[in-house]
Amino acid sequence: MTVVVLLGAPGAGKGTQAPVLARHLGVPVLASGDLLRAAVTAGTALGLEADRYMSRGQLVPDHTIVRIFLDQLKGAEAAAAGAILDGFPRTRAQAVALDAALTEHGDRVDHALYIEVPLEELVARMASRRICAANGHVYNVATNPPQVPDRCDLDGSPLIQRPDDQESTVRARMAQQVPPLEEVADHYRSAGILRTVDGRLPIDPVSDALIAALDATSGGVRTGEARRAH
Ligand code: AMP
Repeated sequence: MTVVVLLGAPGAGKGTQAPVLARHLGVPVLASGDLLRAAVTAGTALGLEADRYMSRGQLVPDHTIVRIFLDQLKGAEAAAAGAILDGFPRTRAQAVALDAALTEHGDRVDHALYIEVPLEELVARMASRRICAANGHVYNVATNPPQVPDRCDLDGSPLIQRPDDQESTVRARMAQQVPPLEEVADHYRSAGILRTVDGRLPIDPVSDALIAALDATSGGVRTGEARRAH
């Protein structure tokens, strides 16, 4: 089982890069934001609770997201091959809970990849981010536009701006989410498995850098395997 944690502030490109890494490793993507948005759309109790935080750009409380995300991680498909974790963990408490859950099955986070982008570029990017209404496929009207304006290339559904991508909400999200993200990065840096890539580059060079970081640490000494051998 290969577990990759993909870290980055909102708008850093996690949602774009996660499927690329998933194809490279042959594992699924588990995206906490998608999980929460599905609950909001379905109108479940969890969705109603999560929506109160998400629409204000705030993090959903740890106990709520930890429970639903770890349930998802236990899913058979993920348990067999591993997963790319997109958007989780976002706080040190979530990182500790994830470590504990994986340790129960003799697993651990193998790689933490951090896509770093300066704050002002993130704010500008998110103002031009759009997602498709049907499946959340991500576009950017400036750097990654769809072939037909306002229509998803993959499923033809209309492109919309997420309510939490409006500039004032974006700044609130950054103020609230970047400090705990740095703590999560430190958590994995201390464990010796953090690799950072320059997220200001275009999409393909960022993908290449992420894959190179994965392959560099999956070769001779694969951190997880080496530790599991003890
Ligand atoms: P994302 O699509 O990853 O940007 O997530 C959208 C929103 O969902 C975030 O702004 C948070 O409100 C919430 N969210 C997603 N993942 C988490 C998490 N791991 N912990 C707390 N809140 C989260």
